[in-house]
Amino acid sequence: MDFRLSEEQEALRESVRDFAREVVAPAIAEHYEQHTFPYEIVRQMGKMGLFGLPFPEEHGGMGGDYFALCLALEELARVDSSVAITLEAAVSLGAMPIYRFGTDEQKVLWLPKLLSGEALAAFGLTEPGTGSDAGGTQTRAVLDGDEWVINGSKAFITNSGTDITTLVTVTAVTGTKPDGSKELSTIIVPSGTPGFTVAPGYSKVGWTASDTHELIFDDCRVPAANLLGERGRGFAQFLRILDEGRIAIAALAVGLAQGCVDESIKYAKERQAFGQPIGNYQAIQFKIADMELKAHTARLAYYDAAARMMAGEPFKRQAAIAKLHASTIAVDNAREATQIHGGYGFMNEYPVARFWRDSKILEIGEGTSEVQRMVIARDLGV
Ligand SMILES: Cc1cc2nc3c(=O)[nH]c(=O)nc-3n(C[C@H](O)[C@H](O)[C@H](O)COP(=O)(O)OP(=O)(O)OC[C@H]3O[C@@H](n4cnc5c(N)ncnc54)[C@H](O)[C@@H]3O)c2cc1C
Repeated sequence: MDFRLSEEQEALRESVRDFAREVVAPAIAEHYEQHTFPYEIVRQMGKMGLFGLPFPEEHGGMGGDYFALCLALEELARVDSSVAITLEAAVSLGAMPIYRFGTDEQKVLWLPKLLSGEALAAFGLTEPGTGSDAGGTQTRAVLDGDEWVINGSKAFITNSGTDITTLVTVTAVTGTKPDGSKELSTIIVPSGTPGFTVAPGYSKVGWTASDTHELIFDDCRVPAANLLGERGRGFAQFLRILDEGRIAIAALAVGLAQGCVDESIKYAKERQAFGQPIGNYQAIQFKIADMELKAHTARLAYYDAAARMMAGEPFKRQAAIAKLHASTIAVDNAREATQIHGGYGFMNEYPVARFWRDSKILEIGEGTSEVQRMVIARDLGV
């Protein structure tokens, strides 16, 4: 058992770390404040090959693996989570369903631009009336000749309304199964299709430089060939995508938690109180030690889940554990880092204020903490 990174993995981590510090850090506060999408940062991430990390070269990818994506997400989130979630959603929710389930034609048509970062894809599962209970999907798609006609809406969809968004994969009810349950399928809807409206961006507490919209489908027609994979496989498809995505979100959460440690150490050395740096006080030292402990153990949890997934072993429980643990400790670390910064921690100019605002969603997106517990308990046979 060897938890050390290979030379190649270490090199990737360092290059993303440098990029995060040199390119993301100086620019992101303004995007965060203005709620603008960081197109130039995304363009440079594309040039670095980050959007193609876990995909084979034959589709325009970098020939890496899912763990490489996780390393990149951790390093980005150590500096900023809006940028990290843009990459996470683009790869694991956007391009991955097409890579995993798409036909050869769909892959040739969509993957090259998605893997180069020139275009983004979104994943539309959640609806205004149903999130955790994704089986409660109301959006319907009816086959009319050689076209699907889609009606319904999707809520909180990441990367769905940028200037470079090229498609959204939408889960929809396409019929009724013999046992009376809903038949769910996934359909590719290209941006700009008549009847597909992207609502104005949400006003969010955090991730304010990431792109999130409600999507409305009103007699939206797409070719029958836009079905992703087999009809009726929508439920199984999104479960697979979410299981994997949880490992990526765990990596992102570990990055945020580690960023809190970085900023707290820096501040504890600088800030003076009662005649000495606050880092001299054991109360502060212990907070930082506990934060490091949490980031470290959460990192091991996602390494374990990623290793199992890449080995082709069952990983559902481990992915849920990693996501649940990493998101919980990210919130803990953000709270403590803010506390260490005192009043300045409440000022938006300090990165820890951003970390604090960005941490909470990690306990909600891609399956709430309650849902992770349900997944773990079910897997244990409870
Ligand atoms: C910024 C942002 C970006 C997002 N991006 C995307 C995206 O790109 N694509 C996408 O499809 N979705 C996206 N989502 C949606 C996200 O995945 C959902 O918000 C999440 O899954 C929770 O669903 P919900 O909001 O409907 O909450 P609900 O399911 O209504 O849950 C409300 C509360 O009830 C609890 N609960 C529900 N059922 C149970 C139960 N059986 N037992 C115990 N407790 C329960 C939940 O844990 C939660 O605390 C995004 C959300 C946000 C905020």
